[in-house]
Amino acid sequence: MPFKQLGLQSNLVEGVLAMGYGDPTPIQLRAIPIVLEGRDLIGSAQTGTGKTAAFALPVLQRLDRHRSRGPRVLVLEPTRELAAQVETSFRDLGRFTDLTATVLHGGVGYGKQRQALRQGTDIVIATTGRLMDFVQEKAIDLSGIEVLILDEVDRMLDMGFIRDVRRIVELCPKSRQTLFFSATVPPEIEEVARFALNNPERVVI
Ligand code: AMP
Repeated sequence: MPFKQLGLQSNLVEGVLAMGYGDPTPIQLRAIPIVLEGRDLIGSAQTGTGKTAAFALPVLQRLDRHRSRGPRVLVLEPTRELAAQVETSFRDLGRFTDLTATVLHGGVGYGKQRQALRQGTDIVIATTGRLMDFVQEKAIDLSGIEVLILDEVDRMLDMGFIRDVRRIVELCPKSRQTLFFSATVPPEIEEVARFALNNPERVVI
């Protein structure tokens, strides 16, 4: 089944074509319609399955209708490399939208990231440590988050970031949509999912 039959708008299908993708991968086939409906999702899928586009495309579509100054989508990633890659995917797939994405991670200065937040951005992709720094200095307001994406939760757990993840979840509005990805879902991950998600659909790849 081609991308356009999944319910994606033409400006996003054009973004997919410009990336040279063929047909959707299994996680994309299953996850995109669920996310477009506004449902919460637990996706059990590894990196390399196309999971970034599986969440980025429907989220870009859900945002496309109206704009605001503060961030409306927050993606948490375990490492700065992944955060940077996911930001690139949002920019590439969303090239025919007018949405903007900003990455926040450690290892570089605060100045440029702070300035991007001040200018206003729709999508923030962040590692937990740097995001908490910006929360503490009130440089970011999470009260307008409509979609929260917790990516590679098993790695965030292994790296000791789960307490920060829980604090960040609590700072986002209760009425949000939440998408949760983890290669495996052992009991301690299941517990984080119960805390963060509301009646989720499950997709196992
Ligand atoms: P990910 O699992 O999100 O890290 O994606 C793995 C790689 O697959 C990335 O380089 C994507 O650009 C690529 N990719 C994602 N979806 C597709 C698709 N439907 N067809 C071909 N390549 C894809």
